[in-house]
Parts: sequence; C-alpha cells; structure tokens
Amino acid sequence: MLVQIEEQHYVKLNELLELCRARLLRYDENLIRRAFFLCYRAHSAGKRASGEPYFYHPVEVAKIMLTEIPLDDVSVAAALLHDVVEDTDYTVEDLKDEFGDEVAAIVEGLTKISDIFANREIKEAESFRKMLLSMVHDIRVILIKFCDRLHNMRTLDALPPHRQVKIAIETRDIYAPFAHRFGLNKIKVELENLSFKYLDREAYDDLVDKLKLTREARYNYLDKVTKPIEVELRKRGYDFEILSRPKHLFSIYNKMRSQGKKLEEIYDIYGIRVILNSENPSDCFGVYGYITQIFPPVPERFKDYISVPKHNGYQSLHTTVLGPDGKMVEVQIRTKKMHEFAENGVAAHWRYKEKVSVDDAAINSLIKWAKELIENADSPSAFMEGFRLNLYQDEIYVFTPKGDMKVLPSQATPVDFAFEIHTEVGMRCIGAKVNGKIVALHTKLKSGDQIEIITSKNQTPKADWEKFIVTHKAKLKIKQFLNEERRQHIEEGRSIWNKLVSKTKKAFSESDIARIAKQFNLPTPADFFRAIGAKELDGDKALQKLELSEPKPEAKSIVKYEDFVKVARTDRSKSADDTDNAVVIEGMKSIAYSYARCCNPVPGDEVIGLVTAGGVVRIHRRNCRNVNNEQIIKSPKVVSVAWKSSASNEFLAGLRIFGEDKIGMTNNITQAILKTDTNIRSIALNARDGIFEGTVIMHVRDVTHLSRIIEKIKKVDGVFTVERFNSA
Ligand code: MN
Repeated sequence: MLVQIEEQHYVKLNELLELCRARLLRYDENLIRRAFFLCYRAHSAGKRASGEPYFYHPVEVAKIMLTEIPLDDVSVAAALLHDVVEDTDYTVEDLKDEFGDEVAAIVEGLTKISDIFANREIKEAESFRKMLLSMVHDIRVILIKFCDRLHNMRTLDALPPHRQVKIAIETRDIYAPFAHRFGLNKIKVELENLSFKYLDREAYDDLVDKLKLTREARYNYLDKVTKPIEVELRKRGYDFEILSRPKHLFSIYNKMRSQGKKLEEIYDIYGIRVILNSENPSDCFGVYGYITQIFPPVPERFKDYISVPKHNGYQSLHTTVLGPDGKMVEVQIRTKKMHEFAENGVAAHWRYKEKVSVDDAAINSLIKWAKELIENADSPSAFMEGFRLNLYQDEIYVFTPKGDMKVLPSQATPVDFAFEIHTEVGMRCIGAKVNGKIVALHTKLKSGDQIEIITSKNQTPKADWEKFIVTHKAKLKIKQFLNEERRQHIEEGRSIWNKLVSKTKKAFSESDIARIAKQFNLPTPADFFRAIGAKELDGDKALQKLELSEPKPEAKSIVKYEDFVKVARTDRSKSADDTDNAVVIEGMKSIAYSYARCCNPVPGDEVIGLVTAGGVVRIHRRNCRNVNNEQIIKSPKVVSVAWKSSASNEFLAGLRIFGEDKIGMTNNITQAILKTDTNIRSIALNARDGIFEGTVIMHVRDVTHLSRIIEKIKKVDGVFTVERFNSA
C-alpha cells in the first residue's frame, strides 16, 4: 500500500509502535503499520471539532487501548480502523480483503453500535440489547468502544455545551456502569469524573480547588500512616509498594451530597493501597495482621474479597483503620495480580496469554450474564431496569444447604434466593429456613447465611412479594405470573357475570358496571370482574345491588347501534331474483330483501327473514335480539331464508370488543385483524375507568372468515371479550 504521509505524522505511528513494544507480549508490526496507513488515508480529509486531523482520534483510541486494556494486535488494528466504515467510503468488505475476517468483524460490530446511537428513533433499551449482542459475538468490540468513549470524553471541550451534556449523561448512565461490570475500574472512574465535570462544572471546579488546597495537609497526614507501615513490613521481609489512592471526584461528590457532609468529613478521602509483589494471596492476610497491630481496625469495615471475590471478579482485602489524630483511613491490600485485575478487569486475563480465546472463563461468565439479561427481558423497559439493577448493586454471598455459593444483591430475601435456585422453586416457595431457623419470606439475607427453601405444590407467587424482592429475575417472573393470573380472573369473572345477567333477561351497560364496581371499592370494571373471577366477590350479591340501584338497561348499546348505522351501507336492498344474490327465500321469488343492520348477517350464519309492512324481507341472524323481541315477532310474517352456497360478495360485520385500556391497543387489534387479510371499514376504541369498549366494522366473506378474525383479536394481550353486534 503506497501512502503519502506527511513527515510530522510519523510521530504518531512511532508513539503507537512504542506502546505496542511496551505493552504487548507479541504483535505483528506489519499489521499495525498497515492499519495505521489505511486509517490515515481514509480519514485524510476529515477534521475533528477541535480542528485536529481526524485520524488523531483513532490513533488515540488505539493508544488508550494499549495503555488501559492491552490485549492483542488485532484489537489495536481494529481500534485504528473503528471509524473507517462509518465515516469514509471504505466498506467492511474492503477491510476483509485487507486485514482478514477477524479485524473486519470487530469494525463491523463497532459500526453497528455507532449506527444505533446515531439513530435517535430507536429506543434506548434496544441499543443496549444490540450492544450486548455484539459483545456476545466478540468482546473486543465493547472494549474498543470504551476506549473510543474515553477519548471522546477527554476531548469533549471542543463540542458545543448541549452536545457535551448529552454525551456526559450517556457516559455516566451507560458506559460507566458497563465498564464497572467489566471490572474496568480505572476507565470507569475516569468516565465518571469526566461526566461529572461536564454535568456540574461549578461543583467540579469547587471540589478540585478544595482538594488542591488540602493536598499538602492530606499528603503529610498520609505520610504519618504509611511510614510506620513501611518500616514494619520491610522488617518482615515483604516486597511491596504503597500507593495513595487516586481521588474519585465523582464518588466524593456523591457522598457529600447524599450524606450532607463537608469534604473534611468524608473519611475515605484518606485511602492507601498496599500492593504486594507476591503470588501468594495469604500474604495479604499477614500484612493485614501487621498493619492492624500499628493502627486499630474498625471491625465492621473489614471485607474479605480474596476468599470470596466480587461478582465481576474483583479481589482485595478492605479495612478501615484508626490513624493518628483519630482519623479513619481506608486500607486495601492485594497482590500485584489482583491489582492488575482490579484496574483492568476482564482484560487482565489476556495480559499473559498468547491469544485472546473465546473459551476463557471470565469471558464466558460475562457472556452468560449478558445472555441472561437479554433473555429475561420481555420489553425494553424491563431490560433497562434489569440492566441498571444488575450493574450497581452491592452483593452478598449466601449458601445452599449443600454449600453452593450464590451471589445476590444486598437486601435480597429468601424469595430472591429461591428464584435464583430455579424459577419453579421461586414460584412454589412457602417458607424458608435461614441457618436452621424458620424466617419470614421478607427477611433480609446476610452474607454467609445458609438458606433452605420450603416449597409446596399448591403455592403460587403472591402480589405482596413484589414489595420486598430485589432481584430482577424474581421481579420479572412474579410480574408475569400475576399478570396472567389477573387476565384469567377477569375472563372468568366476566363469564360468570354474563351467565348471571342472562338469567335476569336484563342488560347492563359498562357504565352500570363501573358504578357497581365503585360501590365495592373496586376502581375499574376490570377489577370488578377480577374480584368475581377470584371468588373474592359474590356475583349474585353484586347483581342484586345493581338491580336495586336503578339500572338503565341498554342505554349504551343503543348508542353503539346508532354509531354502527352511521357507517353501515345505506342501501343494501336487493331483489331475490338478482343473479348475484346470496340468499334463497322460501316460497318467494322476485321479492325485495335487505340485511338487517342490527345484526348484519354474513354467509354461514343461521338467518331468518321478517316481512316488513312495506313488503320487504329483512334478513336477521336467528339469534338477533330484535328477532327475539316479542313486538317484532308478533307483527310481521316470518319466512325461512337460506344462503346460496356460491355467494361471492363481501358483507359488513361488526364486532364489539372489551378489554383493559392499554397503550397501543388500537394498533394491536388492527394488526391482528390485518393478519387475516381483511378490509377494515372503521375501528374505534373508547376507554373509561381502565377499560375500553371498541367497535370494529369490516368486510368479511362468511362466518368462517369472521370467526378467524375473532380468534385473532381474542389473542391480543388485554382483550377480554369479542362479540358480534347485537348477538343475544
Ligand atoms: Mn470514534
């Protein structure tokens, strides 16, 4: 590849190769050079908002990659090329030809993520889902994305303020938690501090100033802590290094705000780390022993993340000691290897490996986590909630009776534990023993607890569990179960109610039902039916009460009928000897007939003709309310009517639908009908008190067609009943 490159830009290439030499065990220098040149050539015309040549950005991203997450040459090449497909004329195919499938696939993944973020139309949750899916494909896609974001945050000054805020929020809420989950602590802290800087400049500057002012005093103080420790540990023959902990501005700021304290009162601004040059984790405990002989420990602050690592793999001993002048000092003790992992997380695993392997246990556990998150979410909002819940929770470690460890968020209860074991165990749990004692299901578990779940075949999840459970999985499963149970109860209740009402030969409108529901303290008719279905309310009693309280029978159905007439065909009269007519009327030829608009019969319905005063046969459905009405039956002559088998016309049919008032209902019902290849003439949904009543009028061929439509609508989530107009 022949590339003209300006002399001054060779500096960039040399910096990059220098870092490769320092940070990678082995690498293909030729690959890095070729990626650099293509990056340079592809972006040659572009400039960043800062005015610098665009290609500085991918080079910086590659350098961050090498500094923070040094993996392999492939990821460095991919970092150099990460914006090429998105911003220039090069395609993934071009990269495949030039660099092979691996590099091309990573760049393709990165391009997809950028597309997602660029497209504001797509719901935020959907982008994370895709981000996670791309990670499942190749974890390097995500790691490069972190570096890309970090460089963009470091150079955010060049952008206008409104873009700064948007990017900073996204970084704080998405990228930082993600980095945390990957164990990339250093990147996470820098991302958080940078977003803090752009989101609350005043507070940020103020804190930086204050820390600067107190800097000398703090260092002098920390010297008083570290000196005696150094002397003691050296005497004991340890090879070690003591670091003062870098200030995490964002976390100090959060603590000051949430605890309403001044900077001086936030004790963890004093923090030190003892990093042992030792392969033996138990040395950490030895060092802990010597330190606490010098400065007394605060017992409840001791945390052993060595024996029981954090969910993201973090290992270290944590303690707080009482330093000189009674000030508290946080101390972290860890080996060099643990330290590297604490800073670089999952990436540290590859540090000493020849090749990034997809079989790596650390990667597999991340992928498993991502897959569970994706599979357990049934909606974007559930996914988002799960995402947040899964990232920032404190954890506890508890045990099964057999001694298997389970990691749960703090505040978890036996119910959460039961769902963690298995969904079925969660669904059927009626009690729990913690450390051998029976406890209430809402008891908060503690690290070290041993839990035995008691189940019963007859148990089902209870609504009040939702108040105390904390795990995403338990919440989701219980909600799904309760929703389904509610739907069933509403359906059962409605059918019980309809049976009771039909015996009275009266009709009650939805507003009558809403009125009686309120009398039983049930907010909506849906709640009313649910109570009947769940046998919490006696339908007979309700009916009596309703009859006493002046029902207004059929008031509403008349209105609905008028609505229907408005849109129905105005002239449907036909003569029975028309060649295209669809019915045979017994004993009559050449007689005018029409379809009754109250019940709109369609071929296949049992029908009957009523001869009107004007001598026209009006065809009704056999079970039409108006046919059964005595007044009508008395006066006109009734004739038999049969459908011709080969009717090719389309007929209007009307359906009345009841259901729970939910967002998107009209659309969902329309979609369901359209699946049956049906022309809809009109659809209208009126919602009240959490319930809707809808009317749909459409063209159908016959009764089979119509029942297919009814079946489809019944399957729409939230629909209780579907019935034809004016059926008895
Ligand atoms: Mn970029």
